[in-house]
Amino acid sequence: MADLLIGIDFGGTHIKVGCFDEALRLHKRGSVATEVDMGPTLVVDHIVGAITALLDCTGHKLGDIRAAGIGIPGPADYQAGILINSTHMPGFRNTPLRQMLIDRLHCPVAFNSDTNVACFGEFTAGAGEDVDDMVFFTLGTGIGCGIISHGKLIQGATGSAAGVGHVIVYPEGEPCNCGQRGCAEAYASAANTARRARAAIEAGATSSLASLEEISCKDVYQHLARGDALARRITDDTAGALALLCVNMLHVTDPARIVFAGGMIGAGPALLTPIRERFDQLIWRIRRETVEIVFASLGPDAGITGAAAMAREATQEGPS
Ligand SMILES: [Zn+2]
Repeated sequence: MADLLIGIDFGGTHIKVGCFDEALRLHKRGSVATEVDMGPTLVVDHIVGAITALLDCTGHKLGDIRAAGIGIPGPADYQAGILINSTHMPGFRNTPLRQMLIDRLHCPVAFNSDTNVACFGEFTAGAGEDVDDMVFFTLGTGIGCGIISHGKLIQGATGSAAGVGHVIVYPEGEPCNCGQRGCAEAYASAANTARRARAAIEAGATSSLASLEEISCKDVYQHLARGDALARRITDDTAGALALLCVNMLHVTDPARIVFAGGMIGAGPALLTPIRERFDQLIWRIRRETVEIVFASLGPDAGITGAAAMAREATQEGPS
């Protein structure tokens, strides 16, 4: 019986695949490495090979798949299922990835951005599973955002809604890769948190981070845990920009919960507490807000879980 759901998370270094049942219980997960010179046909071959291996392990076959979903790194034409290009893999140019997967898997395939898919995963089976209205931020090289309103993902006219990392939080502030100044992303992404630490040290700040040749965001939080004052200041500035972002999103979508994801949340309460404190200082006083700010709970499984959840939703009947 075709009742399995497949979630595919197309990452920069690996493609993860997961096999789920209808209740979104994960039966088996796997992954295949991606290489920069791989073309679309080879990548699809590897995805199908990885899925077949999962099915073999659980005594199933391709015909048992009801639907699949894939989260892809944009830019893409989400309605047409076309990956326009990939920053990691130059062989992808206007690739009809959804149709290629449909042709090989012989089932419907949901196709969305990696951020939206992870957001939907947290909403369906993670940190947002008990609310209907949620904002999701993933902190990486940039800041990705997904928005759930009344249980539905907000997609926009072209599937590109929620480019919230480029909301300006400090007018005339730091330059951002997008060409604006003062974007939240220019301060609070993992990459820019590390960049601000490097810049402060180059400007003469004293810090235990100064002994490192390269500074990553993870280094900032490790040195913060050891009591480094510069790491504390950088983290508080990151938290301040994220709190501003939360206030702005509060007034746009009225979420019940705001969920942060990405490797940076490994910092734990050292990051979450100052975000919450700054948010509480900034929000309006005309009525009490009940929005909760939390960290994501699915970890690296958010992408495959969300892709499988989208696959399930795409094949569910009745009013949605
Ligand atoms: Zn920007």
